[in-house]
Amino acid sequence: LCPITTGPAPMIRLSELKLPLDPAPEALPALIAATLGVAPADIASHTVHKRSFDARKAELLTVYIVDVALADPAGEAALLQRHAKNPHIQSAPDMRYVAPVRAPDGGLRPVVVGFGPCGIFAALLLAQMGFRPIVLERGKAVRERTQDTWDLWRRKNLHPESNVQFGEGGAGTFSDGKLYSQIKDPRHLGRKVLNEFVKAGAPEDILWEAHPHIGTFRLVKMVETMRAEIIALGGEIRFQHRVTDLQVEGGRVRGVTAIDQASGQVHELRADHVVIALGHSARDTFGMLHTRGAPIEAKPFSIGFRAEHPQSLIDRARWGRHAGHPALGAAEYRLVHHANNSRAVYSFCMCPGGTVVAATSEPGRVVTNGMSQYSRAERNANSGIVVGIEPRDYPTDYQHLPLSPELQEAARGKPHPLAGIELQRRLESQAFVLGGSDYCAPAQLLGDFVAGRPSTALGEVVPSYKPGVLPGDLHAALPGYAIEAMREAFPAFARKLPGYDLHDAVLTGVETRTSSPIRIARDGETLQCPGLAGLYPAGEGAGYAGGILSAGVDGIKVAEAVARAIAAEAESQ
Ligand code: FAD
Repeated sequence: LCPITTGPAPMIRLSELKLPLDPAPEALPALIAATLGVAPADIASHTVHKRSFDARKAELLTVYIVDVALADPAGEAALLQRHAKNPHIQSAPDMRYVAPVRAPDGGLRPVVVGFGPCGIFAALLLAQMGFRPIVLERGKAVRERTQDTWDLWRRKNLHPESNVQFGEGGAGTFSDGKLYSQIKDPRHLGRKVLNEFVKAGAPEDILWEAHPHIGTFRLVKMVETMRAEIIALGGEIRFQHRVTDLQVEGGRVRGVTAIDQASGQVHELRADHVVIALGHSARDTFGMLHTRGAPIEAKPFSIGFRAEHPQSLIDRARWGRHAGHPALGAAEYRLVHHANNSRAVYSFCMCPGGTVVAATSEPGRVVTNGMSQYSRAERNANSGIVVGIEPRDYPTDYQHLPLSPELQEAARGKPHPLAGIELQRRLESQAFVLGGSDYCAPAQLLGDFVAGRPSTALGEVVPSYKPGVLPGDLHAALPGYAIEAMREAFPAFARKLPGYDLHDAVLTGVETRTSSPIRIARDGETLQCPGLAGLYPAGEGAGYAGGILSAGVDGIKVAEAVARAIAAEAESQ
């Protein structure tokens, strides 16, 4: 069993190194030497681990975390000892990735369902370990998928199996490509994700920017490169293959049924290890898993609108007189307000210099989200402004759930594990009608929304949502408690970010696909589904990730669990 290792060896890590913005990088070696109390010649090299900006002072500062290698590595321990009381001088953690096993010969190949970030990393890691995974993805390869997605945005033609949610690259392909996460990551698996992205063509700055992003164009190319690596390592990707059922024998998964959507042929694929990395929009597949006995429970998620402001307003509010400095780029923001009705209102998936996108995967529904290019150069900033909701808020009468008529009847009047989907569908259908029933989105000026009066026209902010927006009244678009909390939040946000309550800022609805409305239980050790051995629920759809980076990390964890299980089975035979 040969471990795979990548990345640099450990060194000394210095944090909170602050320098004026110009000319910061050049001044860094001298500052490192002075901080460590050594001569510049004693330092062999330094690598910037993270870089951020501090605009709170009159002077704009660059704040670095750097990893330093000494010319004499034997001196590292003594130097660390000398600075033992300084929390900003520590041993750098070893962030190299070590895969747990190599694939044994023979045996059934593992199957990965879904080729979003979670499925991509599950398949990539399995392939790198020699397991030759088979990937089943309901949507199309990313270039064709891009055309289908734009068909909705340009011509109002929705492709229910090839859109913003479904297809190669998953939900984050048409996105801002933000790559940070607040997950606990003691094994530095996030670093493995970033390293693989760089290998696949991402800009190297994602390795050291505090808030890295890729933008949508580059993501498309990267996804293709990662697909090519998986195939080169013996893996296989079957696009337009939608998994419609599981074969289960004695509490064990023994295979999957998939329909080839291009030919209409149904295939049964034998497999003892199946990763399901479905994303949060695979409502039909959630229904199938429920009927197959997967332990599913309703979980909290959030609902709201997209808010669009001029990017220049956000830059001024965040960077003050430094706004527009080329090193800073388009400013981000993060806002939270705890409303009097106990609801939390917060900004979600903020896209600086980006566009609001039509993100539905189902006919007759409207859903918003945001994306941007690497340059983040569009004129507006957008962000979901959403309200946290819980299963107690979900309906107990069902119209749209993916259930058989018998199960619908049995579920009536009781809280149901899939009830969050029912709420999403109702809100998305309502938004479709409010937007004019042609995939345009309902919109309202922020000032009118707070004042409680409908908008009859747009103002100075030109909304970016395609195919278009219909100004009106968003009060009917969400439950009363959410509207009440949001109306209170906007003036509160403006106290933190001056100008945020701009009258002409545009709200577009509805933002409902913020995270999965369900969680599928899995064992903490084996990552398999209790009662369905061999099934590995993973990524955002199963409730184990929220974003590209965390979905990739979960894909790695699940690939390792599959690899260990297969290796153990081979050893016991
Ligand atoms: P997904 O990416 O949703 O992938 C699931 C895949 O499974 C899909 O390709 C789907 O087609 C496939 N699938 C589903 N059912 C089946 C089936 N039955 N058979 C076969 N295949 C199936 N996150 C960030 O971190 N940063 C951002 O900037 C960002 N911006 C976003 C912008 C937009 C417009 C959207 C929609 C999302 C954005 N996100 C962002 C969220 C991010 O995309 C998701 O968190 C992430 O993609 C989840 O990864 P996943 O692999 O778990 O699921």
